[in-house]
Amino acid sequence: MPTCLKNIGKLLNPKPDGSFEEISDAAILFDREIIACGSESEILPEARVSGTEIVDAEGMLVTPGLVDSHTHPAFAEFRAGEFELRNRGSSYKEIAASGGGIRSSVRSLRALSEDELVLRMLPRLDTFLRYGITTVEAKSGYGLSLDQELKQLRALKRCGDQHPLELIPTLLAAHEIPDEYRENRRKYLDVVVNEIIPAAAENKLAQFCDVFCERGVFSVEESRVVLETGKRYGLIPKIHADQLTYTGGAELAAEVGAASAEHLDFISEIGIERMVEAGVVFTLLPGAVVFLGLTRYPPARRILEMGGKVALATDFNPGSSPTQNLALIITLACVFCKMTIREALWSATLGGAYALRLNHRIGSLHPQKQADFVVWDYSDERLIPYNYGMNMVREVYKNGSLVIRKGMRV
Ligand SMILES: [Zn+2]
Repeated sequence: MPTCLKNIGKLLNPKPDGSFEEISDAAILFDREIIACGSESEILPEARVSGTEIVDAEGMLVTPGLVDSHTHPAFAEFRAGEFELRNRGSSYKEIAASGGGIRSSVRSLRALSEDELVLRMLPRLDTFLRYGITTVEAKSGYGLSLDQELKQLRALKRCGDQHPLELIPTLLAAHEIPDEYRENRRKYLDVVVNEIIPAAAENKLAQFCDVFCERGVFSVEESRVVLETGKRYGLIPKIHADQLTYTGGAELAAEVGAASAEHLDFISEIGIERMVEAGVVFTLLPGAVVFLGLTRYPPARRILEMGGKVALATDFNPGSSPTQNLALIITLACVFCKMTIREALWSATLGGAYALRLNHRIGSLHPQKQADFVVWDYSDERLIPYNYGMNMVREVYKNGSLVIRKGMRV
């Protein structure tokens, strides 16, 4: 039985060209998918004839559900102790050198059973929904061995199977060199290429293959081997590139035909050009810049001027960005990356869908696309970044089902 959401004060619907269709006094007719979407005077009479259930948006703003296209939610513990150490003056590098950082998340993840990991992740998935996020890309990368990477991916699959939030899994076995291979990094690369990638692909546990291309982690040459191997097994490349230093990761993203390259705080002019030409999405993560106390933001204005497609994501992870509030990331993109409010909102909806190559079914509201949308607590989209750090989500619909009512999980 379809439902009609009537009395929408403003409906903002992202278009492929980066702009929005804007409809006042709108209504949406939907079941699991959007059936029709437009002005209330056209949609409502149709709904009344068919005996559809009618719900009232009370004049509020409706947008597509937010798409968080870069997260690391499969971790065991938050790392608040490291935040305190940094707060007292230790650097991220010093903390990593003394066994903290990603390697500490690896130790705690390995000590956790798959069942326990599922139990820890489920409340995090509720939190994404409460922030109006209806689709999340989720990476492994804290296991760093065949069994442990597969454990994370299986836990992600189990969570996705029992929760309304949609999880898109990414294999990130090349996130760091694990302690046991510190003296023989070449050997770990062999494990990734010959064991972990084939097993993740054969068990259909990942759609994307990602790598942390950074000085001291994986070089451009090593990253190329990881991503090309992933491709041979049907995994679409993604890459953490040019985050803390310039490495040429963006150029590599273009070369291998990645869906997206992420961070890009130190991207070169050539890197931008190549990514635009190759149609690679620029996934910007300004939350990680703020939280690490850094000052160099990705050059969003230059990217947009050159015609790049931008996605904004939380980078939710226990080290550099422990937030699930994508609306707050929109604020950071406006303030620090000088994106306009509408550019940032586009990047957190349809832009995210492009980064996941799911723009045919999520990211905007059109017939046959998923009925994933948010009713906000006001009718003016400028308040999304303006009320920074606040959660102004009222209702969330995922695949046509009400999953958040008055800000709470249904
Ligand atoms: Zn990341």
